[in-house]
Amino acid sequence: MLNIVIFGAPGSGKGTQSERIVEKYGLDHISTGDVLRSEIAAGSELGMVAKGLIDNGQLIPDELMIEILAAKLDKLVDSKGVIFDGFPRTIAQAEALKALLNSRGQDVTAMIELDVPEDELMDRLLKRGQLSGRADDNEETIKKRLVVYNEQTSPLKEWYKNDGKHCYINGSGELDRIFADIVAAIDSRI
Ligand code: ATP
Ligand code: MG
Repeated sequence: MLNIVIFGAPGSGKGTQSERIVEKYGLDHISTGDVLRSEIAAGSELGMVAKGLIDNGQLIPDELMIEILAAKLDKLVDSKGVIFDGFPRTIAQAEALKALLNSRGQDVTAMIELDVPEDELMDRLLKRGQLSGRADDNEETIKKRLVVYNEQTSPLKEWYKNDGKHCYINGSGELDRIFADIVAAIDSRI
């Protein structure tokens, strides 16, 4: 089982690189942002709670997010492994993910950190907002998301270093070069 955590600030390219990783390694893709956006589109109760938080740049509470993740994992059949995109975003989520995988005799294989400077993140997200109309890709909300990332999510770099899983990738520049660096990092761990 190949379990990859793709990690980085908003706009760091997690979704884009996940698609390529899925194709190369035949993994299942769990994107918690996509899960929440589909709940919002469906108008579910969860979607309504999520929308209020997401539009304000805040995280969904850990307990709820962990429950959603566990339910997604339970649904997978004949999986070769999973790419976790947008999860974990807090230490509590990282601990929960480890416990969930350990209970199945598995672990995270590698945590791939995509490092991109903040001014480039802002440019990318503003562009994405114009193209996709994503409500949280506006300057005010992006600034809040970056604060939340720095305060709550960024400490996971140290957490995964201590767990021996952290792989640093320079996330700015050519998509092909970034992907090649990711493949090299994954292949060195399998
Ligand atoms: P990227 O651009 O790199 O794909 P992103 O940060 O723009 O990443 P998503 O991962 O799609 O966006 O997440 C969108 C929003 O959904 C987050 O800002 C947050 O409010 C909520 N969210 C997603 N995953 C989690 C999580 N694991 N815990 C709490 N909230 C989450
Ligand atoms: Mg995404």
